[in-house]
Amino acid sequence: EIERISNIIRTQDILRRHNFNFKKKFGQNFLTDQNILTKITETAGLTKETNVIEIGPGIGSLTQYLLESSAEVMAFEIDKSLIPILEETLFNYNNFQLVSADILKVDLNEYIQKFEHPDYPLKVVANLPYYITTPILMHLINSKIPFDEFVVMMQKEVADRIAAKPGNKEYGGLSIAVQYYMEAEVAFTVSRTVFVPAPNVDSAILKMVRREKPLVEVKDEDWLFKVVKIAFAHRRKTLINNLMQGFGKEAKPEIEKILLKIEIAPSIRAEVLSIQDFAILADALIKFKK
Ligand code: SAM
Repeated sequence: EIERISNIIRTQDILRRHNFNFKKKFGQNFLTDQNILTKITETAGLTKETNVIEIGPGIGSLTQYLLESSAEVMAFEIDKSLIPILEETLFNYNNFQLVSADILKVDLNEYIQKFEHPDYPLKVVANLPYYITTPILMHLINSKIPFDEFVVMMQKEVADRIAAKPGNKEYGGLSIAVQYYMEAEVAFTVSRTVFVPAPNVDSAILKMVRREKPLVEVKDEDWLFKVVKIAFAHRRKTLINNLMQGFGKEAKPEIEKILLKIEIAPSIRAEVLSIQDFAILADALIKFKK
């Protein structure tokens, strides 16, 4: 029987012995529920031929479960006071590499090469620091690293926004930015009582699987995301009003002509448009790119 770091008695003992104080600014909420940890690990589907990146190992509660799968795990932790703790709690795992760094500041391409088998499928599994969920996801996506999968815990509300489908009031720029590259679904929700300390929001595990190629083909990716941003600038305004705000009032007749041609009604709201619709819209509006 393995002694679990996440066992509440053991967690409290570790924290006490190291005189650890939780730092709110780092979004520290440690998992203490064996069922949830098992479910996260199973959702990630790890084998000894998987490379795992973990963001924010804390005292190693989730890390231990990941390591028990025999996958090779590389964990990035910003809080220097956690490093000696992790060196103690995970000392007997040789499939572990700890990096003392801010995930947003590292060049991930460089670190991937430090896995024993850099060519193995790569997954990100983490209980994220919630205050930077979106910056972390964008950092991972923008790195252009071919991650196979993300299985990450975040604030439930953000998970719902990322996985939202057109027509939903949560659907917006963030859903499109992620779903363009990945298939996203909420795997399960998690109550706030399974953490120490308890966060003041509910949580969810979001599973994102990389698409073989982006969902749609466009002339210019940056322009697609720019058009999406303009279209959602004011959620209660119509599409034409948002586009006019973005491209200037004088552009109205021209925009109306383009919308008519691609059969998108000017009076709709951006939230009803699928990513495919946005691709057509962005391509048709490309002459407005400065
Ligand atoms: N994985 C642990 C668990 O589940 O019990 C801890 C999760 S806790 C929600 C988030 C962790 O991310 C903390 O350990 C925190 O110090 C760390 N963290 C916060 N910002 C970070 C950053 N920019 N880079 C790396 N780690 C960060």
